[in-house]
Amino acid sequence: MGKSELLKLLVVDEVAENRTAIKKIFQNDYQIIEAENEQRAAEIINVDKIDVVLADLKFITHLKENRNISAIPLIAMADASDPEAGAAAIDSGAFEFITRPYNRIVVNYRVHNVMKHYEDARSVKIIREEQINELHKYIEIDSLTGLINRETFYKRAAALMQSNPDTKYYIIYLDISCFKAINDLFHIETGNLILRTAANYFRTAIPSQSGLCSRIEADHFVICIPQEKVNIERLIIGLDSTMQALGIGHNILFYAGIYPVNNPALPVDQMCDRANMALRKVKGNYMNRYSYYDAGMRELMLQDQMIVRDMETALQEDQFAIFLQPVYNIKNDTIVSAEALVRWFHPVNGMISPGKFIPVFERNGFIVKVDRFVWEEVCKFIKKQRDETGEVIPISVNVSRLNFYNLDLLEFLLGLLEKYELEPWMLKLEITESAYMDNSHQLMSIIRVFREEGFPVLMDDFGSGYSSLNMLKNLPVDVLKVDMAFVRELEESERAYMILKFIMNLARDLGMDVIVEGVETKKQLDYLANLGADKIQGYYFSKPLPVPDFKKLVEDSKNPA
Ligand code: C2E
Ligand code: CA
Ligand code: CA
Repeated sequence: MGKSELLKLLVVDEVAENRTAIKKIFQNDYQIIEAENEQRAAEIINVDKIDVVLADLKFITHLKENRNISAIPLIAMADASDPEAGAAAIDSGAFEFITRPYNRIVVNYRVHNVMKHYEDARSVKIIREEQINELHKYIEIDSLTGLINRETFYKRAAALMQSNPDTKYYIIYLDISCFKAINDLFHIETGNLILRTAANYFRTAIPSQSGLCSRIEADHFVICIPQEKVNIERLIIGLDSTMQALGIGHNILFYAGIYPVNNPALPVDQMCDRANMALRKVKGNYMNRYSYYDAGMRELMLQDQMIVRDMETALQEDQFAIFLQPVYNIKNDTIVSAEALVRWFHPVNGMISPGKFIPVFERNGFIVKVDRFVWEEVCKFIKKQRDETGEVIPISVNVSRLNFYNLDLLEFLLGLLEKYELEPWMLKLEITESAYMDNSHQLMSIIRVFREEGFPVLMDDFGSGYSSLNMLKNLPVDVLKVDMAFVRELEESERAYMILKFIMNLARDLGMDVIVEGVETKKQLDYLANLGADKIQGYYFSKPLPVPDFKKLVEDSKNPA
């Protein structure tokens, strides 16, 4: 591809060295344009068509004021040493945030993600040509729905709330799940019809004397309304039945995030951000269709910040450790393997659960380092165990999907085996089911290579998501790992039984092993035994244990009292 056809990346940073670092990462993928300050950046944005902007944090707020930038993904950059930077970046309206010194993989991944997000939004085809958009900004109305547009909403909502200081308002952010799929599946006119119908519904439901409603982009609507004038539950139920009446034959579900305005002086776009933050909590959840922004979300954000601030130190100062949870063969009551699960012993906050920090690490890329640390600890353990007892218990490790962006993944694993004189069958790789959907083509070939090298591959959390059973036929893994929790959730035991039975049969036909995890009671165990399951992991046998305790368990199991 010639330089001229490349997408344009604008990097705004006063430090030439920082610009060069970015340039090095992206020079093959983007045409890089540099600006040393916000004035220069504005000049460039106003005349050139820029596809993505990476700007030092201090320029973000200013850049955001430029109307020409509203459709361009904006990524903030700051030093990793600044603990407030993450929050500041989000507050200032950047879409993403990366830290210096740049980690090539993380930076690449983030930019890739941002571009993908924007591309998705763009391919929601109802977004009109840029020029038409520009025009409508001036005439205040969204031509598709007749609702006011974003800028107008910001202006009028601020005025409305200021002129009624004694009234308590909600900002409600609404979004349709899977709108892109609907647009792909049906004709674009169907998408438009849905948006127009929703707009009509809002117009009727929101009295125009007291409230406001806007389509702020694509399939996103916002409402500003006095709290006493709206019943959220009813608003959504009404919306559902209106959508159903369209007879499209596809579930069109709206999700809502609500910010109860307690500080009317906050800029309205930030109120919308908060409502959107609340929305993210429920999006895709069938049972719960709306949620309120609360201080807890801020708490969570602060907790996440603590995690980000302390993670590097934690790794350097050995605050991470592995626990091992045994997998039993119930046919002969022996320990056949174990899963390594990471634990973080924080000097101030005590033990932090992986449920809290793993998702953060998966977002910022640090999981790659933690996973590698865990794998190495596991290799050390296997070697030591073999040296001491002459026996090997294979251990499975979790391989977060971010690892697959690293070209040296296989090399790293093979390096570990060599260093600790181990063989691949000793280290089993757990890859979560949802990863298979993500990037299936690339992932499938990597998995094939792993298996050719001799690493057993486990599909973790099988049954949790959209596992396409057909996919399994093309990509045999060695083991399906089924979580009892998924089964437990199905109240009717009849259905649960059928599903499990189906999985067991399928696995047998495809020559795969099955491990059921999360088994807590004798009743569950018997039930599973009846179905022919034999490999079990769960609290019923043992919680994840510190390494010395695990060793003892293995010893004791060999010499029963
Ligand atoms: P997972 O891979 O599905 O791990 C199984 C989780 O189930 C573990 O939670 C384990 O403690 C828990 N568990 C085991 N038996 C039972 C049971 O009988 N009942 C119940 N209710 N739970 C049971 P844990 O250790 O909190 O880990 C949570 C998740 O964090 C893991 O889910 C995994 O996705 C992730 N994780 C943990 N360690 C690592 C790691 O080193 N790397 C990566 N990438 N992810 C990790
Ligand atoms: Ca696992
Ligand atoms: Ca699992």
